[in-house]
Amino acid sequence: MINEPEARPPAAEHRWRWQRHTEGAIEWVAPAPGQLGVDGGTVTVSPPSAHPGRCPSCGRDTGFRVAFLVLPVCSPFGPVGEGCSRAHATETIAARWSSWADVVAAHTEAAAKLRDQPEVSEWDERTAAYLEHRGQYAAFLASAPTDAARRLALRLWSGDPPRLSVADTATIVAGILAEPPG
Ligand SMILES: [Zn+2]
Repeated sequence: MINEPEARPPAAEHRWRWQRHTEGAIEWVAPAPGQLGVDGGTVTVSPPSAHPGRCPSCGRDTGFRVAFLVLPVCSPFGPVGEGCSRAHATETIAARWSSWADVVAAHTEAAAKLRDQPEVSEWDERTAAYLEHRGQYAAFLASAPTDAARRLALRLWSGDPPRLSVADTATIVAGILAEPPG
């Protein structure tokens, strides 16, 4: 049996469903936009910082909120948004981070940026290789034929970074999904 991917609203129509979650550096949590939220990703927003910063959206100089994207695999290392309010800290996220293809693009871009520097250190080279290796997991999810295949892979991995290789994952997922329902 083959499950068709579910119809998803375009990123621009994403509506945040925030929950207050005051714990350490987190104040608000919401499911991530699009496919990333369907697969268990979340966006968290920090309380305002003590030091003022200029909001990139409205230019206000005030306490800064920072947004992070937490994914089952391949979470971005740094913040994905910042601003004076929850709305301004997260307003560009849906357009940039809604699908696994977006996550692949971010990894490829980050690796290329490290290699395009005038002087590439051994550390840069190793970090770029690590980013590319990690990006393969997002690429597997981006090209998975069905929601069922994605969910199965995420269950097999259950960790970031996963221990199972992408090639082994492909073999196992294909094998399980090819079995007739019992
Ligand atoms: Zn603002």
